Amino acid sequence: MIQSNYFSTNEDLKEHFFDLIDWNEIVSIYENDFFDSKEYQKSNHPRLEMAPSSVEEALAFYEEILNSTGDISGNYVSQVAGVVDYKGLKFEDGFVHHPEEMVDVIRKYHDAGLGPVAFKRRYGGLGVPSVIKAMIAEIMYRSDSSITIAVGSMGLAAILEVCATEEMKETWIPKIIDNRYTVTMGLSEPDFGSDLPNITTKAVKVDDKWLLSGTKRYQTMACGVNGGPGLTLTLARTGNPESGARGLSFFIVENKDYSVQGIEKKLGIKASATCETVFENSEGHLVGKEGFGLVKYVMGMLNGARLSVSSQGTGIVTAAYEEALKYAKERIQFGKPIYEIPAVRRMLDRMERELAGMRCLMVEAAYSVDKYYWYEDGRALTNEQTNEKKFWEKVANTLTPISKYYNSEMCNDLVYDGLQVLGGAGFTEDYDLSRLYRDARITNIYDGTTQIQVNAAIGGVTSGMSQTGIFRAYLNHLTSTYEPSPILVEIRESFESIVELYKTIESQETREAFSFEVVESAARIIVSYLMERAKVKSVHRKEKRALLCEGFHRDSLAILSSNFVRLREVTKVLQPQI
Ligand SMILES: Cc1cc2nc3c(=O)[nH]c(=O)nc-3n(C[C@H](O)[C@H](O)[C@H](O)COP(=O)(O)OP(=O)(O)OC[C@H]3O[C@@H](n4cnc5c(N)ncnc54)[C@H](O)[C@@H]3O)c2cc1C
Repeated sequence: MIQSNYFSTNEDLKEHFFDLIDWNEIVSIYENDFFDSKEYQKSNHPRLEMAPSSVEEALAFYEEILNSTGDISGNYVSQVAGVVDYKGLKFEDGFVHHPEEMVDVIRKYHDAGLGPVAFKRRYGGLGVPSVIKAMIAEIMYRSDSSITIAVGSMGLAAILEVCATEEMKETWIPKIIDNRYTVTMGLSEPDFGSDLPNITTKAVKVDDKWLLSGTKRYQTMACGVNGGPGLTLTLARTGNPESGARGLSFFIVENKDYSVQGIEKKLGIKASATCETVFENSEGHLVGKEGFGLVKYVMGMLNGARLSVSSQGTGIVTAAYEEALKYAKERIQFGKPIYEIPAVRRMLDRMERELAGMRCLMVEAAYSVDKYYWYEDGRALTNEQTNEKKFWEKVANTLTPISKYYNSEMCNDLVYDGLQVLGGAGFTEDYDLSRLYRDARITNIYDGTTQIQVNAAIGGVTSGMSQTGIFRAYLNHLTSTYEPSPILVEIRESFESIVELYKTIESQETREAFSFEVVESAARIIVSYLMERAKVKSVHRKEKRALLCEGFHRDSLAILSSNFVRLREVTKVLQPQI
């Protein structure tokens, strides 16, 4: 893979960081009037030492972390990604062996202090907003998915900051960080994947201890790295067998208390251990309140994980685009580099503009979380802040599944083209495209499939498009700083018609079958608006952005037009063939 600093050489990502994002807004919400810095002046608490006291200081810190991530990812991890994939994992007597090259670079990330990216400073984390987390994840995923998962899985435990008691947070979070735990989402079981409300792993209270029994499937890194510490944040039934979602609670179970029965042989992310784990009266530590496991805590954890997959999609496509571009400039056919052949250029140009769109969506979804999430800290809010928080929470609840679905589907679509640019070479294991192609395939499956993301987003889109709805207000907000061009106006009209047509469908089955068309159209209009806003705001790359926007809006209009025709035809017939 290309060897370079994956932050400082990425012009598009850097433009988001230096020119497009309003840091005054994000830092002021995240730092809450620089509370941690003031606290440090009073208490000298070592965990707060790095707390910034101004927006400039915060930015300097963010830039330093991004550069450090870019260096390790681009100069070291990318160089062993192929070997690690080739060597893969070995399972012997309950133990999962990881390749030494993988263990080395995981250590590099941790030694640079990049493990606890997701946590707040006061528990030993880096203390950065979601937009920075998203950028860090993108850079890491560009270099390799399996290695990034092994390091980044720890971030799943950030849900404890939301739902655990203060005592539990202090007991567990610093321990997880200091001992470099891997953390697993203990949701899926052999008979229940998407259907989480019906899982059967059960938890019973004996004396003062919770004991869990059951089997979990597809448990990412539940084994720890080479037998190192790991824990599973497990969903288990504390209610009766018919209690559904409300009978499920959330537990911490350490990997010393369960066994790993085997690992899956997979198409991609071959060095990420996908374990089957068995709990036999395994000790669990209840997190939060009984019965809130799925409805509140797991949903919160999944939202974080979905943003991370949105970054994964962006990172993988960045790798695919840059590798394909390099190859196309070097490969000569018919006496010229294939880069100069229009059919090849077409694929590369589309990859470039779609990638720019994915990055806009990734940043915006993380921004929507920053705009409400950090207000949850129990601080006193003005009425205006309360209204702002409520608005962005609703936006984030729709934008998170949209960005997960969209960036993972686009990831698959674009890596396909990236491989095509290399022709036969792309199909061999001599080039990275074949690995990226295999690794891309999981993104629209795990952490909730595309179909499940569409189910999660459709209500927010359709009811949100009422005259006073949140989604309508959000779309209007996106275009509030510029005059939409005629093609954007046409896209908006098409979107309004699609939603109107969809609302006329009476049959629930038909609505479910055609919700994809509506959510895809919603994603395209959002990304078109975001691309246009970035163009207007751009300082140094206006011409480039204008070019990207031109092609992007054209494709958006074509996609919305075809979705409109599908819905128009389907609403004409009583029993449509889905
Ligand atoms: C490599 C890998 C790592 C994973 N890591 C973890 C992990 O760490 N922790 C964990 O708990 N799980 C993990 N998973 C499990 C993953 O989240 C599930 O595979 C995924 O949620 C889908 O569940 P399923 O495989 O049971 O498919 P199913 O639920 O059987 O779905 C099959 C098909 O039906 C569709 N479908 C199902 N229900 C609906 C519905 N209501 N509406 C529309 N379509 C529907 C799905 O979209 C899919 O196309 C992992 C899986 C893999 C492959």
